[in-house]
Amino acid sequence: MPTCQNCNKEWNWKQTIKKTTTLDPAMTCPSCGEKQYQTQKSKKRISFLTVIILVPLLIQIFFDIPVIILFSLLPVFAAIVFLLYPFFVELSSKERYIGEQ
Ligand SMILES: [Zn+2]
Repeated sequence: MPTCQNCNKEWNWKQTIKKTTTLDPAMTCPSCGEKQYQTQKSKKRISFLTVIILVPLLIQIFFDIPVIILFSLLPVFAAIVFLLYPFFVELSSKERYIGEQ
């Protein structure tokens, strides 16, 4: 779970989902009210995580799975990613680290 870099308090799952699903990159800490930003590293990790959604499509290449099963698997994998991603969120007090891309 992400930890606020200002007050060192850990955000819970629900708070993380709420904060990260807004379009605003600045997320206000529920404990201290300071603005927190997701690190580039954590954004990268999450984009790797979303690849999991495509796993059923890969399985389809190797095994002849009926399309109906494949499509019922997709929301399952999407749910797994949704459940897991708050564990991969990392916070920073700065919008960008120096030297980070
Ligand atoms: Zn805080």
